[in-house]
This record gives sequence, C-alpha cells and structure tokens, in this order.
Amino acid sequence: MQILTTNPRFVPAEPAANPELSSLDDSEQWLDSMKGAIRSARELRQLLGLPVADDPQESAFPLLVTREFASRIEPGNPADPLLLQVLPTVAEGHDTAGFISDPVGDLPASAAPGLLCKYERRALVISTGVCAIHCRYCFRREFDYSAAAGGPELWKVWIEQLQQSPNIDEVILSGGDPLMLTDAKFFRLVQAIETVPHVKRLRIHSRMPIVLPQRITWQWLERLKQSRLVPWIVVHCNHPREIDQTVAQAFTRLIDAGMPVLNQAVLLKGVNDDAAVLEELCRRLIDLRVQPYYLHQLDRVQGAAHFEVPPETGRRLIDHLRQRLPGYAVPSYVTEQPGQPSKTPL
Ligand SMILES: *Cc1c(COP(=O)(O)O)cnc(C)c1O
Ligand code: SF4
Repeated sequence: MQILTTNPRFVPAEPAANPELSSLDDSEQWLDSMKGAIRSARELRQLLGLPVADDPQESAFPLLVTREFASRIEPGNPADPLLLQVLPTVAEGHDTAGFISDPVGDLPASAAPGLLCKYERRALVISTGVCAIHCRYCFRREFDYSAAAGGPELWKVWIEQLQQSPNIDEVILSGGDPLMLTDAKFFRLVQAIETVPHVKRLRIHSRMPIVLPQRITWQWLERLKQSRLVPWIVVHCNHPREIDQTVAQAFTRLIDAGMPVLNQAVLLKGVNDDAAVLEELCRRLIDLRVQPYYLHQLDRVQGAAHFEVPPETGRRLIDHLRQRLPGYAVPSYVTEQPGQPSKTPL
C-alpha cells in the first residue's frame, strides 16, 4: 500500500532526501551568518527604509541582530513588533524607580562563577556570555555575563560542585545563548556534565532556533541524540511573525529527533500585549508541535521600563487564551522573584 501524505512533517529524516530542508544543512553557515549580522542602528534603518534618526549613543549593549531575524521585520514600519525588540531607543536611558541592574538576583545565587543554583534541584550554567541578537528588554543588558561565562578551566569547578550536589538532576545550559558555542566546545561541555552520574536531563535555553535557525544542523542533532542525558529544548519567541519557514523547519528537526520543545515568551508592551497576537503565537506554536510554556513578566531591569505591561493586563490576556485555546496551549503567566526557588505565578 502506498501512503500518500502532503504533510511536510512526515519526510524522511535524511538531509539529502528533502531539498526543502537543505537551507539548514551546512554546518558552518551559521558562523558566517553571525559574522554578517547587523551591528548598527544606521545599517538596520537603511535596510528597512526607515529615516535615519537620532539614535542613542552606542552602549555597552549595542544593537545586534541577525539578517535572518531582520528579514522578518516589515520595511518602513517603525512600530514593527520585531523591530521594537532590537532597535535601541532613547527611552532606554530613562531612570525608572524600581528598575535595577540585577532584578532576578543572579549574583547572590552563584555557587561558582557561572554556576547558578537558585532553582530547586536544577543547576543553571552560563555557558557563554554572547547571543546572536541583543533583545532590548533582556535582563542581560545590565550585566556582563562574559565575565562569568565558563571555559574548560571553569567547567572543572562546576563539575566538582555538581558532583557534590547529589540532589541536582537537571542542568540548564543558559547564557548568553549556549548555541553560540561551536559544536566542539558545546559537546565538550556536554561530555563533562555526563560524567556526573545523578544528572539525568540537559535543558537547553536558546533563542537560536528563532534568530538563526541554520544553527540547528544535522551534525549537532546527531551528536546530541547520542548523549545519555535527556534533552529538553526551551526556545524563546515573542511574536508569531518571528516564525518563518526556516524556523518551522528547525522546530521540525528538533522534534523529529525526539527532543521536546517548549516556548518561553516575555510579555512586552507594543510587541505582544494583545489578545489576538498572543493567540496567534500560541496557535502557530502548537501547529508546529511546540508547547507554550511560560509567558514571562518583564524582569525589572534598568532601561526596559517602557516594555512593562501591568499584571492585570497579563491576567486578562491569559483569560482570553484559556477561552480560545486547548489547555495545553495556554502558557503559565509567571514572574521571577529574587531568592525564590521557582517562578511565581501571577
Ligand atoms: C526560570 C528560568 C529557568 C528555570 O526555571 P523553570 O521554572 O524550571 O523553567 C531557567 N532559565 C531561565 C532563563 C529561566 O528564566
Ligand atoms: S539572553 Fe536571550 S533574551 Fe537576552 S539578549 Fe540573549 S537571546 Fe535575547
């Protein structure tokens, strides 16, 4: 019997067998893409046909955006929800009471440089200080994670610490973005973690499947599949327009390789504080088998106050989602409170 299907998900997981997926095949391409990323507001404005404006001075957290992400921004629209996430504005220079430089209490929670043990039974490691994109609302904007990011020397200290913490059964690779590591470095870190017998799961928090989907290469997936650690992938997408065809392909690859994929979004004024937008985001995700996990309240980091949405609005948006979507498609609306061993529901 011949099985006919038009569903693009059911293609053989062979790189050569599906020309549609070939845009994701070259393992070095993502490194070249990073070299060609946009690094100035002027360049981004020109590319999008926006008038050159009085952009704020270059800061310690300068504009950075991949061309892949920039290609999804609507030209000529200064209020585009993807543009707002990456273009520095003068509002960032405003001092707002209550907005501080380490709003999530990372510094006091460090067990060793780059190793955070603030969550119950989970250890979080700052695997690198860099990202492929600089999100203007990010709590990283005020903290130089490069200083804490580990190299092999520091990894030894982490592994010793993990060996002495028998209750830790999950390691979270965070950053920065762990997928900014080359495969060689990434898997050296994974192998080091594998030597700790009580660690069972490896969680990877990455925005790369969204901002540079070419990073999800067959080579990387094949090696990760061989790890004894159970992988969980948490991606970070805030708006449905961030998901184009190549992003969808990256999700398909991850999930077909047996990796559960969850999405964490941040609730952002002007970007996704809208019932229809959030609903469309959740629908798009579940159509691609990605589960909406968290809708995160903005961390109150200095320079990001203009993105804040009041919790009452957030709760109203979640109510809307609950009425319109299957239960599994409604994310938990949470906030991160310093010193708490888990997220706090809002
Ligand atoms: C909250 C959080 C975690 C861990 O918390 P879970 O509730 O287990 O998901 C890890 N990484 C980041 C970036 C987080 O915000
Ligand atoms: S850590 Fe995540 S949210 Fe923050 S700048 Fe990097 S990619 Fe963006």
